[in-house]
Amino acid sequence: MRELVEQLASLPGIGQKTAQRLAFYIITMPPEKVERLAKTLTETRKSIHYCKECCTLTDDETCPICSNPKRDHSTIMVVETDRDLAAYEKTGRYEGVYHVLHGAISPMMGIGPDDIRLKELMTRVSREDIKEIIIATNSSLEGETTAMYISKLVKPAGIRATRIASGVPVGGDLENIDEVTLLRALEGRTEL
Ligand code: ZN
Repeated sequence: MRELVEQLASLPGIGQKTAQRLAFYIITMPPEKVERLAKTLTETRKSIHYCKECCTLTDDETCPICSNPKRDHSTIMVVETDRDLAAYEKTGRYEGVYHVLHGAISPMMGIGPDDIRLKELMTRVSREDIKEIIIATNSSLEGETTAMYISKLVKPAGIRATRIASGVPVGGDLENIDEVTLLRALEGRTEL
């Protein structure tokens, strides 16, 4: 029981009290339900991997967005995390595809270009007919550094590089910003 509380409390957003409440709930659940929950956890984790196109987490080889022919595959929006992608998808107004970096360049934290999914982005750029790269990394120092780095990489290839407008609060996580602000940031994007 103590181990269960400890493990639950290690999850984000779950404090000791909630962990205890959940643990008590779980130990009174019918055994087959607990088994199903445990199995779902293990199997979901096992089946999740990176989309071979955009690096988002998916349980297929290619994610539903990349495999949708109705999306504009010549426009790539570069985001830091899957949560950022989800935030833009929620607006329902972006028709292009994405690329998830899984981080941002941070010299201070020792995170360089090779530590995020940049190589995969460059492979896509060299292989596909890309018209625009919309850089939607966070407006933090790391996000800006990453944006500059990407624009320097793609511009020599004659690809348009744009940056979402500020108005997204400095240092703000994209996932915490409302849809109207996100759309305004997208529509007001500027050339890099
Ligand atoms: Zn994908």
